[in-house]
Amino acid sequence: ARNSGDESIAVIGLGRFGSHLAESLSALGHDVLAVDRNAQQVQKWSAHLDQVTQADATDEDALRQLGIADLQRVVVAIGASVEASVLTVLALVELGVPQIWARAISGQHAKILSSVGAQHVIFPEAETGERLAHLIVTRMLDFVEFGDAFAIAKLRVPESLVGHSISEVRLLDRHGVRVLGIKAPDESRFRYVSDGLELVRDSTLIVEGTIEQVQRFSLIS
Ligand code: ATP
Ligand code: ATP
Repeated sequence: ARNSGDESIAVIGLGRFGSHLAESLSALGHDVLAVDRNAQQVQKWSAHLDQVTQADATDEDALRQLGIADLQRVVVAIGASVEASVLTVLALVELGVPQIWARAISGQHAKILSSVGAQHVIFPEAETGERLAHLIVTRMLDFVEFGDAFAIAKLRVPESLVGHSISEVRLLDRHGVRVLGIKAPDESRFRYVSDGLELVRDSTLIVEGTIEQVQRFSLIS
């Protein structure tokens, strides 16, 4: 069952990245038009996705015939073949697709995709690597989830909050998290916070909130 306002989303390139993306969009209830030039890939994914078509996406006419010119959102998930990726984005720009998402595999590739006209450039290897670095070392030091979507996390105080008092930063209002305890770098144990307490660099916080709020707060720097 789909909402009448929902439009198909085309995913071009069914490698590891594109196929995961297409499956996730499908699982979220969206109509996915998957395209790959490789017959074996098309064959393989036909069993898992509703609409899988074989076409060379660098060919503007082929894209037009597939109805891709009428779509609002198209994702170019081709990676290793930078030339095919760029030419596909160019063809989509020529067709007037308003929202082109394109995957880059290097910083230079990302720049080219933007200058050719992709509205959203994603660089999964870089983005995931950076995010993981945050989770591993920067902020989230520990994380406990409770059944009812609640979580408690131990994390480093965000740099942007250093020097402000607990009352000034209004964590509950702004981020939906409540501070349960704090430990300055020169202290050996956690203590409760008071309104006037100043957040010192490299302090450790224990915060509670919904899993989503805690995770979002843990990504602030
Ligand atoms: P991944 O990391 O997602 O596995 P990759 O970077 O290793 O991908 P690519 O060479 O980018 O591999 O190919 C991803 C998919 O895009 C392949 O299935 C390939 O057949 C498809 N593809 C490449 N060029 C085109 C094109 N011009 N038109 C349609 N599909 C294409
Ligand atoms: P990515 O997608 O991150 O670009 P990849 O999957 O294309 O990586 P891999 O073969 O996984 O490429 O290699 C990633 C890196 O890990 C390479 O720099 C490689 O030299 C290194 N590597 C592979 N095997 C070992 C090993 N046994 N010990 C140390 N380094 C390794």
